[in-house]
Amino acid sequence: MNILFAASELSPYAKSGGLGDVIGALPSVLKARGHSVSAVIPLYRGLRERIPGIRATDLFLQIPMGKTVKEGRVWEAEAPGGVRLFLIEQEEYFNRANFYGENNADYEDNSARFFFFSKAVVEAARYLEPAPEILHVHDWQTGLVPAFVQARGLPFKTVFTIHNLAYQGSFWGLDFPLTNLPDDAFTAQGVEFYGYVNCMKAGIVMADQVTTVSPRYAQEIQTEIYGCWLDRVLQEQSHKLTGILNGVDYGQWDPKTDIHLPANYGPASLGGKAACRKAVLEAFRLRDDGAPIFGCVTRLAHQKGIHLIQEVIEGLLWQDIRFLLLGSGDPAAEHWFSSLALRHPGKVGVWIGFSEELSHRVTAGSDFFLMPSLYEPCGLTQMYSLRYGTLPIVHETGGLADSVRDYRPPAPKPEAKKGGKASKAKSKAKTKAEIAEAAQVAKGGPDGTGFRFMPCTGQPFWDACQRARSLYADKVELNRVRKLAMKEDFSWDESAKQYEVVYRRALAS
Ligand code: ADP
Repeated sequence: MNILFAASELSPYAKSGGLGDVIGALPSVLKARGHSVSAVIPLYRGLRERIPGIRATDLFLQIPMGKTVKEGRVWEAEAPGGVRLFLIEQEEYFNRANFYGENNADYEDNSARFFFFSKAVVEAARYLEPAPEILHVHDWQTGLVPAFVQARGLPFKTVFTIHNLAYQGSFWGLDFPLTNLPDDAFTAQGVEFYGYVNCMKAGIVMADQVTTVSPRYAQEIQTEIYGCWLDRVLQEQSHKLTGILNGVDYGQWDPKTDIHLPANYGPASLGGKAACRKAVLEAFRLRDDGAPIFGCVTRLAHQKGIHLIQEVIEGLLWQDIRFLLLGSGDPAAEHWFSSLALRHPGKVGVWIGFSEELSHRVTAGSDFFLMPSLYEPCGLTQMYSLRYGTLPIVHETGGLADSVRDYRPPAPKPEAKKGGKASKAKSKAKTKAEIAEAAQVAKGGPDGTGFRFMPCTGQPFWDACQRARSLYADKVELNRVRKLAMKEDFSWDESAKQYEVVYRRALAS
């Protein structure tokens, strides 16, 4: 098959989160499986200097933007795995400090920037040789691509992947003329949603196939709680919705070969993990007296359950743990964690910012990885930490539930069965959903790879951290569970096979 990926991020050249990781990995896996695959992203500031072998092409695109026309130039380079990479140059829109905004605010012209990019993708696709059969587009930034394809009657099939339903690219209706779509596209069957141009909704409704990044999230987003007002739309389109768990790029994320670590290790030889622990504690200038290290690498956003960490962390520190945080985002959270580090010298290490290298070091050097996300479409960091033998503590939702099994000690005391937390939770449960949730939590066992909790409130999170601390006290059992976790396999190949099925469905539609 001949597939063109279009997205706003692609690792290692442009990454702010998991989207970049996915677009940096999946195309090359599909290429290795025999498909013709290329990718297109905006030419952001600095990429001309950073991408080896990048060159300008003679392809200039004239893109109508309302009553004016903007020019875009296509550049070409090679993405990881030998994938052909195209980059759309538009100085005014993409020569900026960041991808989406500055000082914690979105750029005010994000509608124009990404309407332009989506039109440029469709226009460029017309000139590519060999011509793509499928345009695989990702998140709201490219959500209008299916609408542009349909409006122009082009022969491409479209697949739209939802990486995070909460970010919808919803712009006031007065921006609609900038799309240059016919008036009848501004309806419930098209790009309109409650009077706004909603790029996410447009992608869902107009693409031939829709996917999201875990099976559990595919179910969740059809409910009112997780649906971000699009649950009804998704229910209506459920016949073309598939949940496919993201994979891990083990070329980048494997402690056996990781170039960012001071020592390498694997399930057969855990020794290097101790060296990584020592190094990361030194890097953060923390004392090492054998206490368990709870690590966290995250965007500091409400979605990530940061407030839950804030709720339990002081109590955990009283129990003598070490806490490492690498993150950036919400200024109030940045400030809060920085002052936590000042209040607990020698015990808390906080690094506000984005650092690829440090993210690997924190993941390897920690014992447990905190991920109490309120919702999590897939989540990659929990899968990375599994491979590094750093047991994740996760809210049982979305991709976290699909990738982490709950650990319970091998031989629970008989009374724990009758009056334990799980059955107590069950007896307190009020609704059917809560009973089902409590039963799920109770399913954990000794083949668990981490700690799951539910519902997403402070007490269950605290309890899960306590279960982690108990396991830490039994080093033999801890190492057994670590090895189990490290042997989990989330390689991309399995996911790529599922994408092939979706592509075939799109081609047959
Ligand atoms: P999301 O895409 O919602 O942010 P994911 O878990 O899917 O969450 O992916 C996050 C990606 O971004 C991972 O590769 C993670 O290591 C990386 N990341 C997040 N915050 C930072 C940071 N401050 N420094 C370096 N990498 C980070």
